[in-house]
Amino acid sequence: MPTDMQVVKTIAALRDCIGKFRAAGQTLALAPTMGALHEGHLSLVRTAKEKAERAIVSIFVNPAQFAPTEDFSTYPRTWDADIAALAKEKTDLVWAPSAAEMYPEGFATKISVAGPASVGLEDAFRPHFFGGVATVVAKLLLQTLPDIAVFGEKDYQQLRVVTQMARDLDIPTRIIGVPTARETDGLAMSSRNVYLSSEERRVAPTLFRVLMDCAAKMRGGKPIADSLQGGRESIAAAGFKLDYLEARHAETLQPIASVKDGPVRLLVAAKLGATRLIDNIGLETE
Ligand code: AMP
Repeated sequence: MPTDMQVVKTIAALRDCIGKFRAAGQTLALAPTMGALHEGHLSLVRTAKEKAERAIVSIFVNPAQFAPTEDFSTYPRTWDADIAALAKEKTDLVWAPSAAEMYPEGFATKISVAGPASVGLEDAFRPHFFGGVATVVAKLLLQTLPDIAVFGEKDYQQLRVVTQMARDLDIPTRIIGVPTARETDGLAMSSRNVYLSSEERRVAPTLFRVLMDCAAKMRGGKPIADSLQGGRESIAAAGFKLDYLEARHAETLQPIASVKDGPVRLLVAAKLGATRLIDNIGLETE
């Protein structure tokens, strides 16, 4: 496929490209990914292209955000298809460092975020996760120094954590959230959906349906605790092992007693067989 897209794998080559964009006075937007790209990732790329003159996509499966028991070694890797999809979207630059380039021998820094990273949601089930995410995202932002960086609302707590980290460290990049891309039956797109068996795939949209149902009940005046209890029972009845179904303040992610104290975000995580799925919606917006 003929394309002007550049693919770089070293910090030196990255700096060279970014320097040329900046010398030409161009604005930059970064969309960080772990590859295995789907429509959700491509909607980030489209937002990046809308918001800035040059769109950079990073592809890096970050070992630091996986626990030893998690799926780092089997995480889907679809390099050729990813590059073709990014070229089709007219991505300007793909930043694809090796683990050794990102974490050279002797690397010894870890960024630890509190606030939205310690509210008892993902952090309670994946204690290693946000340290790994915050560190790699800080590095990606400092490596590329974009005007804007785009993140999916699909990983809502991650979006809040990255926003907090960039603000606290005075990183001069505006963090933008992009709505979750869904399959036609409502399932949030995820690189991990390929792990689902056909029977699990059929059951998986239950999470989104329960979120919508809880939101409707809360909007209709049913107390938060009762709405969530019904939702938890439906999720368990469908065969999931629930990690959490919670209503939180959309910005702080702190627990919320009443819809009046919102904006409210409903967040869920549950395992279906061996696959862990997460999803969330805004009470007011969906
Ligand atoms: P990942 O490759 O899963 O680490 O995701 C890279 C970026 O894509 C993150 O900002 C995710 O939140 C975002 N993303 C993943 N899935 C979706 C989706 N279904 N809709 C929108 N953004 C997504």
